[in-house]
Amino acid sequence: MRYKQIETLAKQFENAGPCDTLAWASETFGERLAIVTSFQITGIAALHMMQRIAPRTPVLTLDTGLLFPETQDLINDMEARFQLDLRRIKPRQTPRQQARDYGDRLWERNPDRCCHIRKTLPLRDALVGFEAWVTGLRRDQSLGRANTPVISRDSRSGLVKIAPFANWSEDRVWAYIHEHNLPYNKLHRTGYPSIGCWPCTNASAENADGRSGRWATRSKTECGIHLPLPAREAAHV
Ligand code: SF4
Repeated sequence: MRYKQIETLAKQFENAGPCDTLAWASETFGERLAIVTSFQITGIAALHMMQRIAPRTPVLTLDTGLLFPETQDLINDMEARFQLDLRRIKPRQTPRQQARDYGDRLWERNPDRCCHIRKTLPLRDALVGFEAWVTGLRRDQSLGRANTPVISRDSRSGLVKIAPFANWSEDRVWAYIHEHNLPYNKLHRTGYPSIGCWPCTNASAENADGRSGRWATRSKTECGIHLPLPAREAAHV
């Protein structure tokens, strides 16, 4: 899909509801569409909506080997409940192998490298063969996500990137979760608004930025999968 087309689609879907966006994505890309989720509330809502649209759409989740047990429980529950075509994407190295090659607790010394090994590279490899992927990004999650388009071109993978909930608020997603009696990560009840790997996720103060508990003692705000590639690298995608 060409840039011009994607720009036009981004305008067309700017105010669309997530169900309509997901239906369009499924109709357009069929089995070349993947849902990428870490099973946070927006991902749960997307998977529920997809049950009525295309329930066998591949679901990719990054199993870094460092997820909370509560997250693993939720993933298992959702997989069984919705009979998902779930693909757990693992890094090439286990945490133990990573510690052997890069030293213990790499996430404390070089979290960017750790995220690259455990998230960015595995997702890049897993997306090969797809044309488009769905993400749970929302504009209200952080300043860095405030301009997220509903449809864009992902400079990392070269694929079409679809953020059907970009224009929804956290409250609206929670209302959807409760309305449909959907499961969610138990850690949300104990002060964790956003949940990633256990070494880099803390509880947040009430009313703090929704992602403030991620890499809380650092300036880092993103693992990298949603950051644009430097222009020089993007030219080769
Ligand atoms: S979130 Fe932390 S532990 Fe997980 S991959 Fe990134 S740096 Fe490593």
